[in-house]
Amino acid sequence: MLDTASNRPDLPAEIARRRTFAIISHPDAGKTTLTEKFLLYGGAIQMAGQVRAKGEARRTRSDFMQMEKDRGISVSASAMSFDFGPFRFNLVDTPGHSDFSEDTYRTLTAVDAAVMVIDGAKGVESQTQKLFEVCRLRDLPILTFCNKMDRESRDTFDIIDEIQENLAIDVTPASWPIGVGRDFMGCYDMLHDRLELMDRADRNKVAQSIEIDGLDDPRLDENVPANLVAQLREEVAMARELLPALDPQSVLEGHMTPIWFGSAINSFGVKELMTGIAEFGPEPQVQKATPREIAPEETKVTGFVFKVQANMDPRHRDRVAFVRLASGHFKRGMKLTHVRSKKPMTVTAPVLFLASDRELAEEAWAGDIIGIPNHGQLRIGDTLTEGEDLRVTGIPSFAPELLQQARAGDPMKAKHLEKALMQFAEEGAAKVFKPAFGSGFIVGVVGALQFEVLASRIEQEYGLPVRFENSQFTSARWVNGPKAAVDKFTEANKQHIARDNDGDVVYLTRMQWDIDRVERDYPDVTLTSTKEMM
Ligand code: GDP
Repeated sequence: MLDTASNRPDLPAEIARRRTFAIISHPDAGKTTLTEKFLLYGGAIQMAGQVRAKGEARRTRSDFMQMEKDRGISVSASAMSFDFGPFRFNLVDTPGHSDFSEDTYRTLTAVDAAVMVIDGAKGVESQTQKLFEVCRLRDLPILTFCNKMDRESRDTFDIIDEIQENLAIDVTPASWPIGVGRDFMGCYDMLHDRLELMDRADRNKVAQSIEIDGLDDPRLDENVPANLVAQLREEVAMARELLPALDPQSVLEGHMTPIWFGSAINSFGVKELMTGIAEFGPEPQVQKATPREIAPEETKVTGFVFKVQANMDPRHRDRVAFVRLASGHFKRGMKLTHVRSKKPMTVTAPVLFLASDRELAEEAWAGDIIGIPNHGQLRIGDTLTEGEDLRVTGIPSFAPELLQQARAGDPMKAKHLEKALMQFAEEGAAKVFKPAFGSGFIVGVVGALQFEVLASRIEQEYGLPVRFENSQFTSARWVNGPKAAVDKFTEANKQHIARDNDGDVVYLTRMQWDIDRVERDYPDVTLTSTKEMM
């Protein structure tokens, strides 16, 4: 088996064996199925193959729903941990809705690599492209899985070309498919010179591996039908000549992606992909922070909140903050400092999302995701340390692209509405602005669908009917600059000024002209469309 992190002999073994990653894909490409197979190989779900009915692909989800019930909290699709050989994998889920959301972006701040799943017949689809661009902003290493090779798929060279062209990334084949659609019988493992043969009869069976000694090895002829073996030899030779060879450093820097071909539903190619994650998805990386970076091997514990989920139990207004540990060895009951408020916080009931084991987290290491139940103290972007004044950077908040005025259906309940809105703001589901003039709130979102989601959640979770109405404003910018300049600016532009849910000053705009005017008339003031959460 593989060494856990041979390039970092200085890392504690528990940290070196961790791989924290997310899956990015377009709906229907096979993310759920692949997750199920990961858990199956990870030993998390026993006998996942027993129910072979229509709803089969949803089994993963239902297993986690049961887990949610058992624990009384929702862990579904947030984070799952499982072992693969000597490795501990932490799979962090990216939200599935198609509106690009900050949630997705922030999830990707908590991982060290991403697995991009594409459908072999469809290639790079819109949602994949968007998510890929987000990964690129952080130079995340990306491993590609080309799924559904048991169906009619595109020509292998075409698929690779399309990824190279559309995503501007070098692609190197880690495996090469043998036959397509009905004839698809497995892959040639280009990295380890092995033949991996798929068992169509048993969908949960790990593929049979046959060591091959170069393309001339007669074992190829013994195991692959004559009509396919010639094509395989030709294509592999061509691929080796025309496509770049695997360069682990380039993968690490996000400039190259290795691609595996397979069929998640037939469990084929999954083991090779997991081995690839172990080999090329890096161990926990250094975390950007101010005033200094955080190295995973530091003995003191640090972590940051990248997601908050509220109202998992409507009777208690509890939330769970999802914390990525950036360094150290965390133990249950530890006292950490909540850097923003400078207050100590004893973490008595952390949750680890171990798929096979439903206990509280007794311990966790850099790279792990833990859930911390709290009453609202923990917000997205917050840093936890053992006392040092460190703040993790790079978790942005984006200016909303749509603004609407929120009105309580029952005017007597305006105060309740404020509370509900603030809660969603803290969760990162919306931006809430309190205008300096006038009453009510202006709510900002990135995708239009979010207003509907908000309205229904406010009604369900708080029993408050709410209306969203058009606002005269269309966008918002954060106001920065020397205090005197900002004060002068806000005083003279009161009708446009509001405070966001953190109390920071924003300038509400009706059109681009407003922004141009400010830039011209107030050279000391800068308007920004993103804000660092810290
Ligand atoms: P998600 O939307 O990305 O989570 O996709 P799912 O995992 O739910 O898969 C979408 C559909 O594709 C389901 O009907 C799966 O059964 C099917 N599917 C997944 N993997 C494969 C595969 O390797 N081959 C074939 N033929 N179908 C697959």
